[in-house]
Amino acid sequence: RRTCFKIRTGSDNWNKILGGGFESRSVSEVYGEFRCGKTQLFHTMSVTAQLPREEGGAAGKVIVIDTEGTFRPERLIAIAERFKMDPETVVDNVLYQRARNSEHQHEILCGMTADLATGQYRLIMVDSILNLFRGDYQGRGELNERQQKLGVHLRKLVEVAEEFNIAVVMSNQVQSDPGAAMFAGMDGRKPVGGHVMAHASTTRVLLRKGRGDERVAKVMDSPDCPEAEATYIITNGGIND
Ligand code: ADP
Ligand code: MG
Repeated sequence: RRTCFKIRTGSDNWNKILGGGFESRSVSEVYGEFRCGKTQLFHTMSVTAQLPREEGGAAGKVIVIDTEGTFRPERLIAIAERFKMDPETVVDNVLYQRARNSEHQHEILCGMTADLATGQYRLIMVDSILNLFRGDYQGRGELNERQQKLGVHLRKLVEVAEEFNIAVVMSNQVQSDPGAAMFAGMDGRKPVGGHVMAHASTTRVLLRKGRGDERVAKVMDSPDCPEAEATYIITNGGIND
């Protein structure tokens, strides 16, 4: 029997507003400006996904599709130590893939069917989802094609999440035009990717800087959690309170 589970962020505050963490059989999105901790969240969840079920983990392996070249497997060592996991095993259980362009990004995902069919994987993270698509389709006239290709990629992620009971979490950038974002009424920050992204993301979380070292996560869109905010910090041991 396959039951849904939630993968923890490393911050109890943040887990609380998500009803425990990021859920399986579902595609979630974290979006926000640079240095808000998106990649550090993915480092942390690479470890928490592997925690035993008794400790609230998913006891599963992890896939990272990196489009920005900022994921560092070495970062997992300190985080594994924090969670009293064996660092070597933790690193071995993360299948890291660096995507060169948007087509390659989709190929990586499609090429993983055999790995996913083993039933060992519980989490796929894409950091960040639109980066390469934005680079590959820059012209105004190319926007339709970009959105169409993005839609195909996102549908595959949704399908994989549902078929294999996997949590998919993707990071996303925010629109650089603050005027347009403000007009959209989303705390002055709006995720890129338009309605194609909005349609694929079941849960959307906005990240922003708070006071001092504090960061703030806000649930913007969720099927079962109210709009709520939580503060967190970034430490050598990953995301924490
Ligand atoms: P994003 O992906 O949203 O651009 P990151 O996840 O890369 O942001 O987070 C960057 C922040 O994480 C920086 O403020 C940096 O100081 C902090 N950070 C990175 N590594 C560590 C660490 N080992 N210990 C504490 N803070 C760290
Ligand atoms: Mg990043």
